[in-house]
Amino acid sequence: MEVSRRDFLKMAGAGVSGIVIFHAVGSKRGLAASPEAFPLKKRIGEKTTICPYDATGCGFIVAAEGDQVINIEGDPDHPINRGGACAKGASLSQLHTVDGEINPRRLTKVLYRSPGGSEWETKSWDWAIEQIASRIKETRDTNWTSKDNAGYVVNRTDGIASVGGAALDNEECYLLVKALRALGLVYVEHQARI
Ligand code: SF4
Repeated sequence: MEVSRRDFLKMAGAGVSGIVIFHAVGSKRGLAASPEAFPLKKRIGEKTTICPYDATGCGFIVAAEGDQVINIEGDPDHPINRGGACAKGASLSQLHTVDGEINPRRLTKVLYRSPGGSEWETKSWDWAIEQIASRIKETRDTNWTSKDNAGYVVNRTDGIASVGGAALDNEECYLLVKALRALGLVYVEHQARI
């Protein structure tokens, strides 16, 4: 297609006008969306975390207001997922909140089923923690190895193993492993690696 000098000047003029209009509208929009124009009534706290579902270890940003999770989305600064999320990761907030309410399927009470029993009993947290502590101590004490067959000091127990849960996040796993190693466990695994 042949473009005359006159056509070229017409097109250039139209392009410049478009750019001027775009900038005028854009800068007004930018002003309207600024925090000064629409200050938040409450500040929403944002924290980064790691997806608990599998060993890919995608990074997420959790936005919370009080004890309410408002939003969870992929962290664009995370080197693994760069803001992306698979279907499981994209539904992460449902671990806590569904339709603005605490997820009704989230357990809030201790349920206990005795060995050989078929019914769940509701117990208090004090009862459960005391039971867990006393059973760990008893099992650890009766399965303690101070020295191995070669005479090396090992200070370990083979009587307890730990399999981490899929909903444990990075920080919880860190604390759990610290506690388990302090107890002398050597069989420490996580569901995400199996
Ligand atoms: S977002 Fe998906 S791929 Fe990434 S860690 Fe979670 S479950 Fe795995």
